[in-house]
Order: sequence, then C-alpha cells, then structure tokens
Amino acid sequence: MPDYETHEHDVLVIGAGGAGLRAAIEASAAGVSVGLVCKSLLGKAHTVMAEGGIAAALANVDDRDNWRVHFSDTMRGGQYVNNWRMAELHAKEAPDRVRELEAWGALFDRTTDGRILQRNFGGHRYPRLAHVGDRTGLEMIRTLQDHGIHMGIDVHMECTITTLLNDEGRVVGAFGYERERGRFKVFRAKAVVLATGGIGRAYKITSNSWEYTGDGHTLAYEAGAELIDMEFVQFHPTGMVWPPSVRGILVTEGVRGEGGVLKNTQGRRFMFDDIPGPYRTQTASDEEEGWRYTQGDKSARRPPELLTRDHVSRCIVREIKEGRGTPHGGVYLDISWIKQRIPNAAEHIKKKLPSMYHQFKQLADLDITTTPMEVGPTTHYIMGGVRVNGDTQMSTLPGLFAAGECAAGINGANRLGGNSLSDLLVFGKRAGEHAAIYAKENGVGTIDDSLVDQAVKNALAPFEREGGENPFALQHELQDTMQNLVGIVRTENEMQQALGDIGKLKERSEHVHVSGNIDFNPGWHTSLDLNNLLTVSEAITRAAIERKESRGGQYREDYPQKEAEFGKVNITIKKADDGSMQVARVPIPEMPEELKQIIEEMG
Ligand SMILES: Cc1cc2nc3c(=O)[nH]c(=O)nc-3n(C[C@H](O)[C@H](O)[C@H](O)COP(=O)(O)OP(=O)(O)OC[C@H]3O[C@@H](n4cnc5c(N)ncnc54)[C@H](O)[C@@H]3O)c2cc1C
Repeated sequence: MPDYETHEHDVLVIGAGGAGLRAAIEASAAGVSVGLVCKSLLGKAHTVMAEGGIAAALANVDDRDNWRVHFSDTMRGGQYVNNWRMAELHAKEAPDRVRELEAWGALFDRTTDGRILQRNFGGHRYPRLAHVGDRTGLEMIRTLQDHGIHMGIDVHMECTITTLLNDEGRVVGAFGYERERGRFKVFRAKAVVLATGGIGRAYKITSNSWEYTGDGHTLAYEAGAELIDMEFVQFHPTGMVWPPSVRGILVTEGVRGEGGVLKNTQGRRFMFDDIPGPYRTQTASDEEEGWRYTQGDKSARRPPELLTRDHVSRCIVREIKEGRGTPHGGVYLDISWIKQRIPNAAEHIKKKLPSMYHQFKQLADLDITTTPMEVGPTTHYIMGGVRVNGDTQMSTLPGLFAAGECAAGINGANRLGGNSLSDLLVFGKRAGEHAAIYAKENGVGTIDDSLVDQAVKNALAPFEREGGENPFALQHELQDTMQNLVGIVRTENEMQQALGDIGKLKERSEHVHVSGNIDFNPGWHTSLDLNNLLTVSEAITRAAIERKESRGGQYREDYPQKEAEFGKVNITIKKADDGSMQVARVPIPEMPEELKQIIEEMG
C-alpha cells in the first residue's frame, strides 16, 4: 500500500451533526481517543437547519405530559412498527439530554417563570418542543461544538468517507478523501460510529441539503450491515412550492403549531374533512377549539393541521389532484389570519417565526404576516436506516455503530416532528458510550492493504474512463425516477418500472467520466455520491415493493389499507454474497406487558 495520510483513533465518528457531535463528546468523556470526520465544515451539518424544536416530555407548559405519553405518541405516530425499546429509551431520556444541553450553554426560549418553553407540534399530545424561535438546530450545533471543542476531539473537516474497512467480520477503519485537495486518508479505529444523516437528494423535491446522499446507509450496506424500514420516507407536508428555484425548502411545522391553518383555493380548511380513526378523539371538533389549543387552552384538542405528517401530506396531495390546489401546485398555509384574534399579530409572528418571515420575504417576496404562503409536500426525512441494537446502537456488524437519521428503529413508519433532534441527543450519547466500551474491549484490527488499494481504485475510476456519462445528468434522472415512481403515492407497476430504471442507471454509472483533477472537483464528488444515491434508491424501492400495504410514510394505491401481517414485521435489506440486494421480513419482538399497557391507557 502506498503511503497515505493515516490517522489512528479508538473511536472514529463519521458525521458532525447533532448525533455525531453528541457521540464524539460521550466517547471522549469515557477516556478514549476520538476522531470526528465530516464532509462539510464543522458547524455546517444538516442539523443546523432544524427549525421547530426538540421533543422532550419536560412538562414545563403542560404538566400532564410525561415519558409515557411521549412514548405512546411516538408509537402511534410510527404505527407500531417502531423499535419499542428505542421509543421507550428516547421518551425516558430526552428530558435529561435537553437539560444537559441547557447546562452546556444552550439558550432556549423561556416560559414567563423562566423554564424552557415548549411548543405544539404534529402528533404530540401536549406542547413538547423545546425551541429557540425557529432556529433550534443552530443553537444545538453551536452548543455541542462549543462543548466538544474542549474535549480533545480530532476533527477532520471536508473529508468524505467512501469505504469502511473490515477485518474478519469487524469494522476496523475507514477510507476517504479530502474534498478540497483530493488527498486520500486512511483512518484506523477500534470502533466506528456512523452519523451521516439522510438521503433526501435521491428525490427531486426535498428540504435536504447537498450532503444528504445516503452515504452512511451505503457504507453500512456495502460493509455487510443490515438496513431496515427503508420504505418509510417522510414527505413533510409544507415545503415552499414557489418560486421554482427554492421549491422544497422547508416551512416549519411550527407555523401550524402557532395557529397557521391550511386552506384550499375554495377557502376551505380541508384538514377537517378527513380525520383518521385513531386520532378522532384527540382532534378538535371545530376551528374555534383548534385555535384555543394552539393558544394553550388545556381543555381544547389539537387542530387537524397538527395531525401526523404522512396524513397531512396525503390530504394536500388529494386537494391538488382534485383541482383545488393553488396556481403553483400547492395549497395555502395562512398564519396572517391570527390578526383577527390577537393584537400586534405581525410582531408576534416575526418573534415566533423569524426565519420563516425572512425566508418568504427574501426568497418569494411575500410577507407572511399579511399574506398566505403556498406550500406542498417535500422529501424531508428517512425513517429507515442502519439496523441497530436499541440499547447500544451497534449495528449487525461488530464494531460499527450508528446514530441519528442514518440509523433506524425509533420512528417506525413515520417520525413525529421534533423527535429527530431528541433522537440525536439520546442515541448519539448511547452510541458514543458503547463505541467507547467496545473500543476498550477490542484491540486495533488489521487493515489489509488490498482493501485500501481497491478503495483508491474505485475512487479514481471516473477519471480513468474515456468519455461517457455525465454524473450530474444521471443524478437528475435518478431524482426524477424516485420523485415520479417511488414518491408519496406508490404502486407495484410504477415501482417495478423504477427498479428497471435504477438498474439501467447503475449500468450507466459504470461509464461515468469526469475530467480535470482531484483538487476540489464537484463532478468527481457527484460521481462518487451517485453510487450511494443509487444504492439507497434501490433499497427504498425494493422495501416498498415488499410491504404490500399502506402505513405511515408508505402509501400504496394498490394496497390502500393497513394489513395486520405487516404490522408484525420490519423489512430488512442486506447485501447478499453474490452482490445482489436481499430483502427479508423480520418479526418485531414482542412488546413487554408494561409498555402495551401504556399504549392502551393513552388510548
Ligand atoms: C429544514 C429542516 C428542518 C428540520 N427541523 C427539525 C426540527 O425542528 N426538529 C427535529 O427534530 N428535526 C428537524 N429536522 C430533521 C433533523 O434536522 C435531521 O434529521 C437531523 O438534524 C439529522 O442529524 P444527524 O446528526 O443525523 O445528521 P446531520 O446533521 O445531517 O449530519 C450529518 C453529518 O455527516 C457528515 N457526512 C455525511 N456523509 C459523510 C461522508 N461520506 N463522510 C464524512 N462525513 C459525512 C456531514 O458532513 C454531516 O457532518 C429538520 C430537517 C430539515 C431539513
């Protein structure tokens, strides 16, 4: 093996968003050496974009809240195919993780008596989201970075990991390249934590940043770990639909939490037209009750705009399909109407939703304090990811851990808003803790030279080819395929067509050519990302075909009902020995009686 820059750490964390930073802090606190690698600059991870808040049953605004209600809300939202152990740990530990963040310097919005303020969000029975205006992710990243920086963590910024390195069935390191100079790097580690975020860039319309190309999902899959729940992609109901250049950018659920309402072009609050059975008793019977709920009236039930994201997205699609959509293909989201109810409404909106105000003013020349927004569904989050043990976050491959959006289990078929940021803290901490334990118990593995040689060869292949395919064009074609054929509404025929298309795109990706050299070369970066996008797209499609029912993020027009047999299984994806993608149904372990009882009691 030629001499590549080599680093050795007990624990290597790949990803510096909320999950990666929290894992790195915990591993470092356990006394092991920690390396943290990220594709972008430190502080620029996707978590920084998070808006609405962190879900934790602190009960500061409504003392009826507790971990049991949060657990039950999360399971109902996930339509009971969640990893119940993760949902339990998450609900129990999120409050401590939020208080810890506060102790490390996070400045949350406050109640009048000085406690952390909490806001309403879809699917949460009580106001539960600790927040900082609509810039919560920024505060979270800032705090974790400030805290982590003093712990002696080695940070490798703007470095993309392309391959995990195995030794006798255990992960012992990673290979990557510097984005700026193209230089290769080898990382030796006793344990590796994946915290690489999501896959949104597989779709044309998305709220996700350029980083979300399914890298961690693919790294784990290629190394031999299992993925789970890949069919469950979350389409957030409210992305911007206009102007075209910003289509997909998120409009936080916080707008609806603060009293924003959805209307069609006939001026009708269409969300009242279809309230799913399990939520009927918890939903306001009229507009008046819904408004009172958003203003903190404990006797009121939530407005239907705050039903779960999967349902709200489908209602919006229905309105558009049936001809009641706006000129730019969305529906109206109106927060300006609250001027009928409260004095100084414009100031109130600007204070509660400063980013939304600026986003629309700057990008669409629209003042949300006076005018309704046009919104529609946007690809936002993937519930599926690396299959992990709920307590330790170790994947099915020894030495490999995963946390945050690239791991799966806690959310089941649909994630409740705010449950991601708390997931990052709870399971980031657990991943760091258990990776450190693993590192202490296991020595450094051997990195076979041939693995590194192969990784180098794969990375440089796009330069070696003569002429051929353009990586950007292939990425766009893939995004069209996923958007049109494996989107919000799915059918077997269309998904089979998508599989065919993905297969052809895979073949064509073998002929991708890039020119120039390895110094910052976006064409080269895209050609390497493309492999990851193709892998996760195939995984989503195969899993979605296997689940012959509709549940949460997966809506099958050909199987519109929930089926009991699918309520008992998760779909897993694994690379077979012959290199093909293997799909299987695995039974969900039986839930302990005490947890079943909680769900029954909460109704
Ligand atoms: C606009 C928006 C608003 C949101 N608001 C909320 C909210 O209010 N509440 C909530 O709970 N959730 C929210 N979410 C979801 C939430 O922000 C994300 O799910 C969460 O931040 C993901 O965090 P993470 O730590 O898993 O990954 P990220 O924060 O995405 O971090 C991923 C890290 O991995 C690195 N990386 C990726 N691939 C590689 C590679 N190959 N090599 C090296 N490094 C790599 C990246 O550089 C980055 O550092 C929102 C999402 C969006 C898009």
